[in-house]
Amino acid sequence: DDTVARIAAGEVVERPASAVKELVENSLDADASSVDVTVEKGGTELIRVADDGRGMSEADLRTAVRQHTTSKIEGLEDLESGVATLGFRGEALHTIGSVSRTTIRSRPRSGSRTGKGGEADVGTELVYEGGEVTSVEPTGCPVGTIVEVEDLFYNTPARRKFLKTTATEFAHVNRVVTRYALANPDVAVSLIHDGREVFATTGQGDLQAAVLAVYGREVASSMIPVDADADDLPPGPLESLSGLVSHPETNRSSREYLATYVNGRAVTADAIREGIMGAYGTQLGGDRYPFAVCFLEVPGDAVDVNVHPRKREVRFDDDDAVRRQVDAAIESALLEHGM
Ligand code: ADP
Ligand code: MG
Repeated sequence: DDTVARIAAGEVVERPASAVKELVENSLDADASSVDVTVEKGGTELIRVADDGRGMSEADLRTAVRQHTTSKIEGLEDLESGVATLGFRGEALHTIGSVSRTTIRSRPRSGSRTGKGGEADVGTELVYEGGEVTSVEPTGCPVGTIVEVEDLFYNTPARRKFLKTTATEFAHVNRVVTRYALANPDVAVSLIHDGREVFATTGQGDLQAAVLAVYGREVASSMIPVDADADDLPPGPLESLSGLVSHPETNRSSREYLATYVNGRAVTADAIREGIMGAYGTQLGGDRYPFAVCFLEVPGDAVDVNVHPRKREVRFDDDDAVRRQVDAAIESALLEHGM
């Protein structure tokens, strides 16, 4: 029943940042070239994610908000290594909509009601509140999808009570959007909080350009490239590690600045974090942490993605080896640059 659904929703959508993550992933899966994220009050009052992706027809929209519907999975094998699309459970929209007032406006690139250019000439607005579709109407909107999530957890007071301050919730949102912006320099990603633009990437640059847009000139101009493959590394599952890491002088007293990816997916892993920290070990005074954007490639069977799928936490069969390999890759990059 409803209560069970809402409790389950609380497990999946913990806080505004979890909803933002799901919506941004959907936009990227829809092949968007721009993704604009707007949040108010750390996302507790409003989350809006607008994309110019392939969009949905009215029928697609009705299907999309149903539980366990996904257009993305062929068979269970997809759940194992090498999932091409980011979402694969088909429950995000349904879940978010059961603990908020969600409005989705979407217009497909092509659809049943098509205009001359092969694009649908009209979009659909679907309102989904507390798990019920309360209205579906034609609407004028650009090609793509705009999802607005208002009053997250309005019907789950217990969950709402667990939310932290606006600043903390926004920090989580910022970290999520940052991760996707850095991993997709070819997509223009922007983030606005309470009317203020936090960052905007152009979608036309490389990783360096995205780092500049997100972290600013001081950090970006001193980043050090890392580019190691198996031959350069101690034994272990890593096939390659590439990215940018900060000059020790620009390190800050926060640990919010690690963006790490395994086989193209934004993940966190103790082994990677410890490897990065280890590489800076001697240079780091006290509580200063590096910026790092690191892309790791490993064979699919060396990584366990099911530790905490929602938080994208992964472990490796041989965490120690990965830690040593990451440490070595970054340490030698720092050494090459005279540190
Ligand atoms: P999943 O992403 O796991 O498939 P979701 O609940 O997140 O499940 O989305 C359900 C479906 O809705 C997706 O499979 C996709 O077909 C469609 N969808 C969701 N968001 C978008 C979007 N931004 N653009 C186009 N289609 C979308
Ligand atoms: Mg999804």
